[in-house]
Amino acid sequence: MENIHIDFLNTSQTISIDIPEWCPHCGRNTSPSLVSKSRSQDTLRKDFARFAVTYRCSYSDCKKYFSVEYSVHPNNLSTSIKTYSYRPPIKVNLPQNIEKVSPDFVEIYGQATVAETEKLEQVAGVGYRKSAEFLLKDFAIYKEPSKQEKIKTMPLGQVISTYFSDFPKIQTLAKAISWIGNDETHYIRKHDDKDIQDLKRFILACAQFIASDYDFDEALAFTSSN
Ligand SMILES: [Zn+2]
Repeated sequence: MENIHIDFLNTSQTISIDIPEWCPHCGRNTSPSLVSKSRSQDTLRKDFARFAVTYRCSYSDCKKYFSVEYSVHPNNLSTSIKTYSYRPPIKVNLPQNIEKVSPDFVEIYGQATVAETEKLEQVAGVGYRKSAEFLLKDFAIYKEPSKQEKIKTMPLGQVISTYFSDFPKIQTLAKAISWIGNDETHYIRKHDDKDIQDLKRFILACAQFIASDYDFDEALAFTSSN
């Protein structure tokens, strides 16, 4: 804790702040030096006030600057550090209701998207392939709930040929996904003209068909109950 002076409502207040314990640049424990502090941008009358303090890492091979935002409680002037994340939110566009058929697909596909955004393309490819496996198996289980245990342990190719005979377009997309997906997983790449973007495109097309089927089932239940 360190005491600093900050102006609120034109009066200088002495408040205690926590000093950050590690440097966000080099990740080491440090007692950074306080370089400057901003004025408060808010009043303390009814709301939390906020201000920022600029620090500098104390390690001679780092010496980088960083800012920390504090919020001040209006009643007792206690302060807390606002946690910052510099990772911009990653948008994943998936068809509506697909999470009702396969929540795992949504989770894994989202993680693969994060990996791709971080340029971890090798990991992303394997992740997309895995997300497709969950999507297709969960869809098979959705159509045939009594076969759940069997489907879980079946190889994906067999699930596709056994349970998707009513969905030839999904069968074709799934075949393309598994061909490219195997390339992402295995040591020898066989299909050099297709890449991770094609893999994603085919997975999303599959998800689109599956989400449509889910919506169709809901419409069917609705119209046959009235
Ligand atoms: Zn540092």
